[in-house]
Amino acid sequence: MYELTEDDKKRLTEFLGEKWHLISTDFDNASDGWLWSECVCGDRWCDNSISKRHRTRTFTTWEDLGALKEKLVGEEKWGDFMELAYDRWDTREDPCLYSWLLHPTRFAWLVKEFLKGGSDGSDKD
Ligand SMILES: [Zn+2]
Repeated sequence: MYELTEDDKKRLTEFLGEKWHLISTDFDNASDGWLWSECVCGDRWCDNSISKRHRTRTFTTWEDLGALKEKLVGEEKWGDFMELAYDRWDTREDPCLYSWLLHPTRFAWLVKEFLKGGSDGSDKD
């Protein structure tokens, strides 16, 4: 429960309007002998320090929760989101809705469920 797949994280990242990064395993570029890395955003590099710039959100931090909350509010989706959150609220996990909701992993999962519902206009599932 409350686990996100890579696809879910990609969807949430795109919802935030941010670039999705996924570094493929190093591959040998036979032409120059260097070990290259490649990201789905299109960048390639052979300097390992660059990999840090291609990290994506884990959706397990307070910063991630805050970004998702601000985006929902900014797009005037907070009310609809709270309806879904109220529906999914498991009182056995926490009898208080707000402390149940303010949990980074669970919050990201709820936003994922909210987006899946097509409330953002993309009803793909
Ligand atoms: Zn990238």
